[in-house]
Amino acid sequence: MSDPAAPLYRPTILAGPSGVGKGTVVAALRRRRPEVWLSISVTTRTPRPGERDGVHYHFVTDAQFDDLVATDGLLEWAEYGHHRYGTPAAAVRAQAAAGVPVLLELDLAGVRQARDRLAGAQTVLLAPPSREELRRRLAHRGTETPAAMATRLAIAEAELAAADEFDRVIVNDRVERAVEELVDFMGLCA
Ligand code: 5GP
Repeated sequence: MSDPAAPLYRPTILAGPSGVGKGTVVAALRRRRPEVWLSISVTTRTPRPGERDGVHYHFVTDAQFDDLVATDGLLEWAEYGHHRYGTPAAAVRAQAAAGVPVLLELDLAGVRQARDRLAGAQTVLLAPPSREELRRRLAHRGTETPAAMATRLAIAEAELAAADEFDRVIVNDRVERAVEELVDFMGLCA
């Protein structure tokens, strides 16, 4: 049941290219605003050491995933390397209806699938200060082969080219400033 006295937050869908600092911004947001509820995805892959069901993912069987797709239980889903991943619709809608500020972290394809299926949803793209800076941040990670980095950069270009599709673009020039803008965009009181 939704509480009529609860403030209404628009569920927020956040995207941003790899290397832009999405993980850092989301972690900082949650430290500052622990009431923000992050959607937990379902996946058909098996847990890695240290991963817990219901914390990192909801780990499901192929049959359970098929069932979720067949019953329209996912806001969006995708396949990565033989495994499927998706955003469960019911939990997101229930939290939003209960007045909880909801945040979904998705890639561009996920944003395109989910935005019209989630009532009142608003979208935000986290962007680097410049393409050169993104290149530098990706290179700094030192975990990418040149080919992998070229792929990530190409995906990043495509995501940034879609900026017009988003309700807001937040430039991650400084983490604290970007978080402040996100807090404001989500309608969370200062
Ligand atoms: P991993 O197996 O490393 O945890 O995740 C593999 C990929 O699945 C990552 O690119 C991650 O962003 C993506 N992923 C995780 N959850 C979801 C989801 O709910 N929907 C979609 N479309 N992709 C997801």
